[in-house]
Amino acid sequence: MISDKMTDLVNNSSVIRAMFEEGKRLAGIYGAENVYDFSLGNPNVPAPKAVEDAVREVLEEEKSTVLHGYMSNSGFEDVRAAIAASLNRRFETAFDWSNIIMTVGAAGGINVLFKAVVNAGDEIITFAPYFGEYRAYAANVDAKLVVVSPDTSSFQPKLEEFERLITPRTKAVIVNTPNNPTGVVYSEETIAKMAEILERKQKEYGTVIILFSDEPYRELAYDKTEVPYLTKYYANTVVGYSYSKSLSLPGERIGYLVIPDELDDSETIKTACNVATRILGFVNAPSLMQKVIGRCVDVDISDNTEAYNRNRETLYSGLKELGFECVPPKGAFYLFVKTPIDDREFCERAKKYNILVVPGSTFGCGGFVRIAYCVSHDTIVNSLPKFKELAAELGLI
Ligand code: PLP
Repeated sequence: MISDKMTDLVNNSSVIRAMFEEGKRLAGIYGAENVYDFSLGNPNVPAPKAVEDAVREVLEEEKSTVLHGYMSNSGFEDVRAAIAASLNRRFETAFDWSNIIMTVGAAGGINVLFKAVVNAGDEIITFAPYFGEYRAYAANVDAKLVVVSPDTSSFQPKLEEFERLITPRTKAVIVNTPNNPTGVVYSEETIAKMAEILERKQKEYGTVIILFSDEPYRELAYDKTEVPYLTKYYANTVVGYSYSKSLSLPGERIGYLVIPDELDDSETIKTACNVATRILGFVNAPSLMQKVIGRCVDVDISDNTEAYNRNRETLYSGLKELGFECVPPKGAFYLFVKTPIDDREFCERAKKYNILVVPGSTFGCGGFVRIAYCVSHDTIVNSLPKFKELAAELGLI
């Protein structure tokens, strides 16, 4: 009964979500404190208090018919202006409210942009390992996802291969830094080189190639690592942001797109994104959360980043001591750990110790597993003896 296209998508449906369900099942049997569920990027650190205060204030202070009513499909103008001003302060950009389109999280933003600009048969390039949902987002617009193979020694993008894979059908390139699943941050030098390649290829083919910066983890960077703001390096950049991770609000479904004036055909693309937001069925991003965000654009999230950083350090050094190998992560809240055996088999073996991790093949990079450390610090500490048993079983120690 279901469509052919959905049949494929259902069959390839998220392994991560399946793991999450498995975690709930195991918690029911062994107790939640005895299950080490590192499967989902669902922040364990609560939203900052300022966010909860803002929810109350918005309900008390905003006129109810405005707050709960329809607005422009791109969102409330005052909220978009507050976001633009915050970006300008932080990244020396020059956006105004019209450059911002409120979205239903990062996922909503990517789908809106693709709906607006991608034709069937177009190619969208990304770099392995990559967020597996990109496959479904490309399929939604009948585009082909073209994947640059991973450099497993650094997880920095392979730029020569990237250049070779750009064709006249390349419509967009997705980069995600800080990266899910590796935690790697692309340096300014890498971004500048990538921009140079894109400029060259646009000229060669007479096309426009959009660089899409998928950046839900922008603020989650450690060791004072700089995360370059991509619109400053390449004119045809679109940014997709989400508050799911930085403010621990994944269930609230709120984020935005930045469509800069410098983007080729910017005005038409803004209009198309506005219409795409409506016709994809979102109509607009959740109004209460838009207003909350309008008051929280510059909220201090250092408590959250400190908690993740502590988890990162404990888990990274703990696993290294046990003989596991991993490129040091500089951002997001994931470790991407090399597996001495097939990654899916590794996940099955880990389950015996009530450890739930996700196979790298889900991210287009077998031989690794992703460990999401956005869990309580106790979970990290208590999991290490279990990882030790696993390491022993695998002959690492
Ligand atoms: N992009 C990346 C790289 C992600 O890791 C995620 C979520 O984990 C998303 C997009 C989707 O985020 P959102 O919950 O804001 O839709």
